[in-house]
Amino acid sequence: MTTGAVSGWDLSVGVDGPGTRLVVFTAGCPLRCLYCHNPETWRMRDGQRMAAGEVMAEIARYRRFISVAGGGVTVSGGEPLLQPEFTGELLRRCHDLGLHTALDTSGYLGDRATDAMLAVTDLVLLDVKAFAPVTYRRLTGGPLAPTLRFARRLAVLGRPVWLRFVLVPGLTDDPDEVDGLAGFVAGLGNVERVDVLPFHRMAAAKYHRLGRPFPLADTPPPTGDQVAEVLARFRAHGLTAA
Ligand code: SF4
Repeated sequence: MTTGAVSGWDLSVGVDGPGTRLVVFTAGCPLRCLYCHNPETWRMRDGQRMAAGEVMAEIARYRRFISVAGGGVTVSGGEPLLQPEFTGELLRRCHDLGLHTALDTSGYLGDRATDAMLAVTDLVLLDVKAFAPVTYRRLTGGPLAPTLRFARRLAVLGRPVWLRFVLVPGLTDDPDEVDGLAGFVAGLGNVERVDVLPFHRMAAAKYHRLGRPFPLADTPPPTGDQVAEVLARFRAHGLTAA
């Protein structure tokens, strides 16, 4: 019986894959992104230990609703590949039910995703947080290379990807870096769209409740013009960006 640590689940529309999604948040993440909105999911031991079958029973309650709404199930985190057997079983069982499946990951642990797991994953939501290794490490505390390796592997396997990029003024907005990322992504050939997500400070209250300082408390959200400029850089490489 496969078990895993789960932080919770929620319904979302349009952002975590096509249609209405049931998003399962797994607990535990090896990265510590400065802008993380879910610091309560960082430690696996803070999650609720559940059997895959128990999670599937919850999913079954929403199955008809999300199917009718053209949606599916997204396994998110934390970092779902920190628990590869559990995540793989959820994706496989959802796939067997005929539900569209998505995996939301930083790609940092992409080597843990087996080809069998990726074969039952209809979409990967890949967060590439920066394109210069030094920026990536400053932002996440970890190395960039595993994420790029995973992105290339997904391209070889022909798995559809929606790329996510959080725009943080003064941190991820260097034009050369954005151009470098856009060129890399365009060269993969399997990225269906790029979501540019403007940084915001809505998680600050959560950090406060957890007794932790919010590292980007003094960083402003990007302006509309800054977002438009980054979108234009992705589109200039022939990508669909929104
Ligand atoms: S990878 Fe995601 S969950 Fe982990 S620290 Fe970064 S933003 Fe938070």
